[in-house]
Amino acid sequence: MQNQRKIAKKFGGKDTFTNHWEDWKWHAKHAIQDIDTFERITGIKLDPKFRENVALTLEKFPLSITPYYASLIDPEDYQNDPVFIQSFPSPHELEVDPREMADPLAEDKDSPVPGITHRYPDRVLFHVSNLCAMYCRHCTRKRKVGDQDSIPGREEIKQGLEYIAENPQIRDVLLSGGDPLMLSDEYLDWILTALRNIPHVQVIRIGTRMPVVLPYRITDDLVDMLRKHHPVWVNTHFNHPRELTSSARAALRKLADAGIPLGNQTVLLAGVNDCPRIIKELMHRLVDNRVRPYYLYQCDLSEGLMHFRTPVGKGIEIMESLIGHTSGFAIPTYVVDAPGGGGKIPLNPNYLVSLSTNKVILRNYEGVITTYQEPHSYEPIFCDRHCSDCHLQLKLKGAEECEATGLVKLLSDHDDTISLTPEDNERMERRGDD
Ligand SMILES: *Cc1c(COP(=O)(O)O)cnc(C)c1O
Repeated sequence: MQNQRKIAKKFGGKDTFTNHWEDWKWHAKHAIQDIDTFERITGIKLDPKFRENVALTLEKFPLSITPYYASLIDPEDYQNDPVFIQSFPSPHELEVDPREMADPLAEDKDSPVPGITHRYPDRVLFHVSNLCAMYCRHCTRKRKVGDQDSIPGREEIKQGLEYIAENPQIRDVLLSGGDPLMLSDEYLDWILTALRNIPHVQVIRIGTRMPVVLPYRITDDLVDMLRKHHPVWVNTHFNHPRELTSSARAALRKLADAGIPLGNQTVLLAGVNDCPRIIKELMHRLVDNRVRPYYLYQCDLSEGLMHFRTPVGKGIEIMESLIGHTSGFAIPTYVVDAPGGGGKIPLNPNYLVSLSTNKVILRNYEGVITTYQEPHSYEPIFCDRHCSDCHLQLKLKGAEECEATGLVKLLSDHDDTISLTPEDNERMERRGDD
């Protein structure tokens, strides 16, 4: 609080804190975008050599930090500060490993119309804003940060809406960006109204980091608008327990009180949160604020993120420290987003030790090895996809038309496929049949 007053004063005199600190537009307008301002506002004096190298990074990847988020940095130990590391550029961002990519998740390739990424069968990512209040240094869409040309206008948004309307399999729309909450309430209301007018859209989700970097964005007007469009889910992005300040908690409370289910996506980041104790503390503070941990992400292979990446083993170690040790609803799913666009792949420690035809051997979080006795008899349900004839009584119309994909195809009774083979499999090419 004291630090916030001090920072506000440096922006514009002694009344700035009282008059503007809780105004989100003031923060967006006064976001720190250069090194001089950063030093002046935070009182941090950077090492001259580091400063010089950071200036080079800025030519490729711009800087933007809200005064609020900057106020969370501890000036006494800024080099190790998780808020500083997430928001202030590093010379390491210019080190590119040949295996890193500008668009590792192939979001642009899986884009049928501008602004839409359609990867999974029943849901799409809808990039409605290319603006962010704070530029996370670990952004997976670093390629687009600060790129003025890719701010979608109304016409582009309309194309996205049309695509969603024309594809009835889309039942879940995820508003992303950029940060969708950088848009005005009116503009968002327009998008949400249009989405709600599409009968097959069941769920709308908003992915936003505002509760973390600019919690004052969560106004009463905003939540009153959002609740008109229920079911609306919000996923936010806390990475460190220190980010759960009283302002952030107030923002979460407003959202939760508006009946919005809250989730959180954390990115596992070296030097920020690659510690089982930090993650556990973060998960506990999230559920304490009615936020359900959703994903723990392995850091993507985006260009310039090498210094943030941990081995996958760190993620597994963290999951091992959570599962069984704390409440099930405080445990996120650890995922690697497959390079090339394969989507999220969940990873867990192994709990299945062995298997016979009537027993499963499992181990628990304490290392206890246990047996699960399988049923003596089981009447299998052979599925021909004719739900209307099945005694399980789902009575789904048109289910037989639904095609299985992936391993579900191999497991299903109604599909004769016995193997999935990569396209350029040499053995198959040698066979030369069809
Ligand atoms: C993450 C993601 C989604 C949503 O996936 P869920 O597992 O349902 O949260 C949808 N589309 C794309 C392209 C994504 O990256």
